[in-house]
Amino acid sequence: MKKIEDCPVCGKNEFSPFLETRDYFLTQEVFSLVQCKHCSFVFTNPRPLDNKLHAYYNSPDYLSHTVDSFSFTGAIYKRLRNANIRNKFKLVNSFKQGKKLLDIGCGTGELLSYFKNKGWEVKGIEPNKSARSFAQKSHHLDVIDETGLDKLEPESFDVISMWHVLEHVPDLNGRMMQLNKLLNKEGRIVIALPNLGSPDARKYGAFWAGLDVPRHLYHFTQSTLQLLLKKHEMELVGSFPLKFDAYYVSLLSEKYLKRKVPYFPAFVNGLRSNFNAKKNNNYSSMIFVIKQKT
Ligand SMILES: [Zn+2]
Repeated sequence: MKKIEDCPVCGKNEFSPFLETRDYFLTQEVFSLVQCKHCSFVFTNPRPLDNKLHAYYNSPDYLSHTVDSFSFTGAIYKRLRNANIRNKFKLVNSFKQGKKLLDIGCGTGELLSYFKNKGWEVKGIEPNKSARSFAQKSHHLDVIDETGLDKLEPESFDVISMWHVLEHVPDLNGRMMQLNKLLNKEGRIVIALPNLGSPDARKYGAFWAGLDVPRHLYHFTQSTLQLLLKKHEMELVGSFPLKFDAYYVSLLSEKYLKRKVPYFPAFVNGLRSNFNAKKNNNYSSMIFVIKQKT
């Protein structure tokens, strides 16, 4: 395990305990979250060593390419994923930038494939080897591993997207610098994140599936994300809800609570979360659209 000495957002080093939770998804190991006393950023601390993190992804369920469509949850997931892809495309395609997309953490490439079919020039980054080769072989996509990020041409992308990915990246500030370098000056960065400030995060507490320790190293709210953006001379130009996530995250959370029949309470809580989130735009998961400061 590695103890983080300095807050990844503000660099100060005084933290208070936030909560203890488990890796309910895979290992059942207990992990602690701390909150920075200066900027309120919440992160997993201590966390596994960088070179041990991959072990926490060793589940056939984790990556989208092996989702079992015959299980009820798997079937729901796939339907939601396809609807999500269409919604994401609508959003990104509405920007007035060009059509060159870099998707970091593209998984098996379903989203990239959709964009490619709509006439976008696409490239993917994916650390998982089997997901990467699936994307290359089944969707004929240009997908490389993370080490390839540094070799890409500076300012060469109109849109860089990270859908539920930034919270997994060990070197958070290094990644933000890479984004800054690769984005063209007029471009947009699109980051989707679970929202620790959402009603379902509050309701489920340590059982909230959006915590997903130790795979999620950081637990952002809109305000802590804003601080990170400011540090890297970026600014938020829009934020949008991912309403399906409230249901999916509630379903997983109900399972972590060992509910025998999780579907009904998950549906009710998803509905309730989306309803309450309307007041202050604090949905279960959010898409943030970001640009560089001019
Ligand atoms: Zn801090």
